Amino acid sequence: MPKPLLEQLKEGVVLGDGGYIVELEQRGYVVAGAFTPEVVVTHPNAVRSMYEEMRHAGAEVLQVMAFYGSREKLATVGAADQTFAVNQQATRMAREVASDRALVAGDLSTTWKWAPDSPSARTLVAGMFDEQIEAQEGVDLFIGETFFHFGEARLCLERIRAKSTVPAMITLSFRASNVLDDGLSAAEAAKRLRDAGADVVGVNCMRDPERIYPILQEMRDAVDGFMAAQPAAFRTTWETPWFTGSPAFPDKMDPLVLTRYEMADFARKAQAMGVQYIGACCGAIGSHIREMAKVLGKYREERVWKFDPDAPMSETEYNWERRGARAPGAAPIAV
Ligand SMILES: [Zn+2]
Repeated sequence: MPKPLLEQLKEGVVLGDGGYIVELEQRGYVVAGAFTPEVVVTHPNAVRSMYEEMRHAGAEVLQVMAFYGSREKLATVGAADQTFAVNQQATRMAREVASDRALVAGDLSTTWKWAPDSPSARTLVAGMFDEQIEAQEGVDLFIGETFFHFGEARLCLERIRAKSTVPAMITLSFRASNVLDDGLSAAEAAKRLRDAGADVVGVNCMRDPERIYPILQEMRDAVDGFMAAQPAAFRTTWETPWFTGSPAFPDKMDPLVLTRYEMADFARKAQAMGVQYIGACCGAIGSHIREMAKVLGKYREERVWKFDPDAPMSETEYNWERRGARAPGAAPIAV
């Protein structure tokens, strides 16, 4: 079995996985707009194959495919009564695929029902987190992710702590500014989450690596301890730094997908910045995670391919020869 998360983080970088829900929409199994995870019970094999893809690519943690898996969000597609089953089945499949080769992270995410200073919203959201935590019993850690409000992130951490003993990682999401929707800066939010007992704090989704670095740096300067970064693999701009703000979202994102090498550069840079949990979010599939695994020294190539640049036997070999790459750096070559 893999070592527990905190032990692994003490020894070095842990590689997370990529984004599931947007990719499952691309593959035709998830409804754009709702982006809810009932696919877990309607098309379990589609989810299982993504878990397998991530693990095969080198991910050391499989995140339970329960994004937007809260009762009120599933109700938007008429699947409220399947909430427990969806969360439980997503967890069971992740565990089966992870086997003894990866950790399994429970997943909790923004509910869209949080409202600052509202006791009734707090009760509703806490109840939804509790239901998901119970359904995801047996995970190795919990990740609370894609929170735009500090208050909701803080409540998520509180419920994980109340109902479970495994490590808790909380990651926040930023759109136009480096300030959360309830007014806290990235630095202040990270500090408060850390003080409240989060084992790992950080950033996920919405922004591409380039636009996530300033936030990461702000957090890194503000807190000691483990940090996480799981950016989107869609190219954004400083004008509109978050991908869901692009007019191309959700159904014309294809030309905006970052290359595997851009995500590998991110992994290298995040490591240099002192981030220990490095993964990715929406837009990142197996090819991105594989390249990230390579630069982090976590990928073992099993294929053997004899590449003779003087006698190319494929278009790839011609291309690499033209690029002057007789033995391309991270390419799967064993001569
Ligand atoms: Zn995402």
